Amino acid sequence: MSINFNHSEAAIRENRLGSVTGYQGTIKGLVAQVSACTLKNKERCFSQASACSSGCAQSYLSRIVDAVMVVHAPVGCAADSVYSNTQNKWGEKVRSWKHRNISVVNTNMVEEDTVFGAVNKLRETIREAYRRFHPNAIFVTTSCVSGIIGEDIQSVLDELQEELPIPLAPVFCEGFKSKIWASGFDAAFHAILTKIVKPPEQKTNKINMINFSGSARNQIVETLARFDLEPVFVAPYSTIDQLSRMSEAAATISICGTLGSYIGNGLEQKFGVPYVKTLQPHGIAGMDSWLRGLGAAVGKERAVEEYITEQKALIADELAEIKAKLTGYRAVVGMGPSFGHNYIRTLQELGIEVVWGATWHFDPQYDNGEAPASIENLAQAERDIPMSVGDQQNYELLNLLNRLKPDLYVARHGGSTVWATKLGIPSVMVVDEYSAFGYQGLIDFGHRLNDAVTNRSLARNLAKRIKLPYTDWWMQQNTFAFLAEEVV
Ligand code: SF4
Repeated sequence: MSINFNHSEAAIRENRLGSVTGYQGTIKGLVAQVSACTLKNKERCFSQASACSSGCAQSYLSRIVDAVMVVHAPVGCAADSVYSNTQNKWGEKVRSWKHRNISVVNTNMVEEDTVFGAVNKLRETIREAYRRFHPNAIFVTTSCVSGIIGEDIQSVLDELQEELPIPLAPVFCEGFKSKIWASGFDAAFHAILTKIVKPPEQKTNKINMINFSGSARNQIVETLARFDLEPVFVAPYSTIDQLSRMSEAAATISICGTLGSYIGNGLEQKFGVPYVKTLQPHGIAGMDSWLRGLGAAVGKERAVEEYITEQKALIADELAEIKAKLTGYRAVVGMGPSFGHNYIRTLQELGIEVVWGATWHFDPQYDNGEAPASIENLAQAERDIPMSVGDQQNYELLNLLNRLKPDLYVARHGGSTVWATKLGIPSVMVVDEYSAFGYQGLIDFGHRLNDAVTNRSLARNLAKRIKLPYTDWWMQQNTFAFLAEEVV
């Protein structure tokens, strides 16, 4: 399998990777189906709101510091810009930067545009965006409306490319095309790979560090310096110039397999930059695997082994203490697939029993044709774990949590932790992708979980005072009552 750079559009994950949003069973059962090539998606005959790939692409690209994003859509499709701006503030604070708003412009498609088209609006909006912001690149994201009426965005950009002296990159991420919002990451990275990254002029000691907000940047800079390497944090908070030189890096690593697989494999395929395809660096096994993968990619195996031995010795006593406190607690995990699989393992390292893993989709393979290391790792463990796949359908999650009554719900999306808390279950939201990062990060995360399970009054009091929108009837039904049988 390879990425098609001659096409302006990245195929969605369902078509490209065989990814699914409907499954119920166990981790070993899921991997057995993948091995036997029998995994098929299961649709739901009832569905609540979820997220969309356009929002995902917008949120990710809007934090490139010297680019502008033009959202060719009705204004509501850009509503997530408020959230993106909040995230942007957080990343700026981490870097001690002065705050500036993200640069997002919306073409405000209205009803008559669906009849007559809106390419003139798009053309003028791009010109205006260039006049106002003088960016070093403009990304144009699509939407359900521009996609359904068949707007010829590529022709508009080709025409304007002769007029404007910066890359104009289309990002085909119409929300209706994919149930997997991570398809938006791929669309964003496809635009970067095809329009921004230039062929290498020289090889450097830089490491493309694919992530979101980069809160652990100081720690990563310090760690990589031990191996004479220098991280470049991609793509939020980077510049177009930095992105254009990703081809010169010694390797690419990622904080998240779901996020990084397209750009990592793409850079490897197109420019020969090695992509480290290991576990995520969460917890001990994850950090061991991640550092060893990096060491192998850049020929620093011995220095990496010395670092691992040193760091593990530093945390050994405190890890035993925190593990003794957490052993015996039961948790449910709800996250995107790569984070979900890696956090199941991380919680187990802290002595917590994971009684269910819910992931928002599942990729049976990445763009190099191999299964994610994180699911292979879980499938090889002695204990099998019940799991489900769904595009964050809260009605299923609430039914499940009500049935399992775990001590803790650990998730990466606020849209589900708030409901678990209202149900009376202490919840931890892993909004910072560097929570539980590496050895000391595991200890810090362990203390955070211990605080959550020993301070239950918020969840208890909320549950007493709040009426959930789900009826007793639903709470007594089979959690997966609306998950239909197999469809192709
Ligand atoms: S699903 Fe479509 S209409 Fe809804 S926000 Fe996403 S792009 Fe816009």
